[in-house]
Amino acid sequence: MEFYDAAEALSRSEIERVQLKRLQKTVERVRRCAFYAERLGAAGVTPDSIRSLDDLRRIPFTTKDDLRSQYPHGLLCTDREEIVRLHASSGTTGSPTVVCHTREDLDSWASLMARSLFCAGVRPADVFLNTTGYHMFTGGLGMHYGAERLGCMVVPSGPGNTKRQLKFIQDFGVTAAHIIPSYALYLAQWLEARDIDPATLPLRIACIGAEPHTEEARRRIEELMHLKAYNSYGLSEMNGPGVAFECVRQDGMHLWEDAYVAEIIDPVTTEPVAEGEVGELVLTTLCRRGMPILRYRTRDLTRFIPGPCACGRVHRRIDRIKGRADDMIILKGVNIYPMQIEQVLMAMPEVGQNYQILLEREGVVDQMRVRVEIKEEFFVEDMRALGAIQKRICSRLRDEILISPRVELVETASIPKEEGKAKRVVDLREKAE
Ligand code: AMP
Ligand code: ZN
Repeated sequence: MEFYDAAEALSRSEIERVQLKRLQKTVERVRRCAFYAERLGAAGVTPDSIRSLDDLRRIPFTTKDDLRSQYPHGLLCTDREEIVRLHASSGTTGSPTVVCHTREDLDSWASLMARSLFCAGVRPADVFLNTTGYHMFTGGLGMHYGAERLGCMVVPSGPGNTKRQLKFIQDFGVTAAHIIPSYALYLAQWLEARDIDPATLPLRIACIGAEPHTEEARRRIEELMHLKAYNSYGLSEMNGPGVAFECVRQDGMHLWEDAYVAEIIDPVTTEPVAEGEVGELVLTTLCRRGMPILRYRTRDLTRFIPGPCACGRVHRRIDRIKGRADDMIILKGVNIYPMQIEQVLMAMPEVGQNYQILLEREGVVDQMRVRVEIKEEFFVEDMRALGAIQKRICSRLRDEILISPRVELVETASIPKEEGKAKRVVDLREKAE
């Protein structure tokens, strides 16, 4: 078994020893900032009182609102002068959240990222195309420095301009790419419309992540693009990409436990869920100096995958993110996650590469409309044929989500594709009021 670095090959007891030591150090360090000093003080937590990893549970949670309330620099645990970069989340409401990094922080992030890419089979000889934005979004610079650290030749193409992306892939012999899943599906469709066979391209690995996607979508990307696609998970608050990554076994994402302690809790009671159950992922940074974060409530829903991975890595695996606690749609008393809808759609051969979920209000009743792109060859003039497809989609969706949404069939490439993360749900209910 090949590993990128020694920490990747640690045993369970070694991982736990490293975690405890780093947790104690982190608790010591965060007392430099008034926010944590006060929080920990009130909870009676001192570095000495952290004697085992179980003591983590005595530390209060940190939420996105806490980060917002400390905007921009309230959570710094170092002098401002030591900070060499900041990233901020866009944040649709209120202040954005800001994360600041020292030189050491960036160094350890790049190493985690390089390790992640290595674990998915990327090697120094690869030519790496990074199609995500190089700005406040951490997917750009985060992946970039990781791939460079690994030794790849990096092509920092950034998002958009598909024609140019294709030219880069062909001219520079791109073998691995970082691409968000919705753009990978768009790219596949774009190539198909131009009669370009992806098998003729040098691309062999796609690192896909940054947004929720289903196993069905991953399989589609792999088949359509003629490559292997690996799931990449991260969030700005925990650096960005490089928190958890799939290995070549494609059976869950290894979460790098020498850098993060992960917990999975019931989002309502905040108690840990039973082993293997789905809950909210809570993360604590262990290696950050500039802005460590304790017990961050990610709002992301996942579970630990029990047992060891066939690849030999001991770092625990988390399952594909099921959605965010905030993404849940409640319609007619039923809880629905957008990924349940994607799972149905992406398993149907007639369905194209894009869809949208619209929430509408008619009088006092909320309705869901699912707008589905249909592949060119199925988008025929025969109303009966289209009607049959529509009925089939509707009944499979009803089986999955227990209510019957309206299903609207639209032509391939007719749903606008914006740059960056796909917006799957459009809530029109407010406007109707
Ligand atoms: P940001 O901090 O803006 O990069 O957004 C981070 C969020 O993107 C996470 O909290 C997740 O909700 C989502 N995300 C990132 N990677 C994945 C992934 N591989 N699968 C599903 N959702 C993801
Ligand atoms: Zn593995």
